[in-house]
Amino acid sequence: MNAIHEHLLNIHQQIQSTAHTAGRKADTIKLLAVSKQQSTAAIREAYTAGQYCFGENYLQEALEKMQELADLAIEWHFIGRIQRNKTRLIAEHFAWVHTVDSIQIAERLDAQRPANCLPLQICIQVNLAHESQKAGIPPEELPALINAISALPQITLRGLMLIPPNNLTEAETLAYFQKLAQLQQSFHLDTLSMGMSRDYPLAIAAGATIVRIGSAIFGNRPKVLK
Ligand SMILES: *Cc1c(COP(=O)(O)O)cnc(C)c1O
Repeated sequence: MNAIHEHLLNIHQQIQSTAHTAGRKADTIKLLAVSKQQSTAAIREAYTAGQYCFGENYLQEALEKMQELADLAIEWHFIGRIQRNKTRLIAEHFAWVHTVDSIQIAERLDAQRPANCLPLQICIQVNLAHESQKAGIPPEELPALINAISALPQITLRGLMLIPPNNLTEAETLAYFQKLAQLQQSFHLDTLSMGMSRDYPLAIAAGATIVRIGSAIFGNRPKVLK
């Protein structure tokens, strides 16, 4: 068994046991393998080990990988910053987008989603800590954005996404995850995209339904792109 296969098995075991402890069903938690800056060979290895959902941050890099991996039935998720002039390619090539944070972006994705595709599944990225350098909308703006998105036929709002601040204690990180879970419930959404390699057990304890895990599957990312 190769290292990627072994890491995936370990993570699935961790998801199982954390879900069990939290009184949750493990099959309500989806593992998204974050493959940014990883090779297509590494993605193939993960796929062969049964991993079907992959997350990418950089559009150009993702499009090149999609071409090389066109023979695989991968579900691609966009989890990077969305530049306004890149929405068409995102709407055409991805099944999910986790990082919607404005009505303008949502409207463009809706208008540019091809009619022969299923609606784009989206999450709104929330900036709970009001960090100025970080993407996402402040929670106060959620009701207006959710309301506006509900009128768009080619995108389906599924839930909320969070990247908590760095350098927090476990208790502080957990509190952020719990706060996002409260928002998810108050808006009756089914998806909570939160938890990365270092903190996904905390996110599962708080109710995460998609964990986005990169380095714990593939090892550390190379410093230089590919
Ligand atoms: C890179 C990235 C991840 C994965 O981070 P790891 O620490 O490698 O697990 C998850 N979510 C987003 C938005 C990312 O950019």
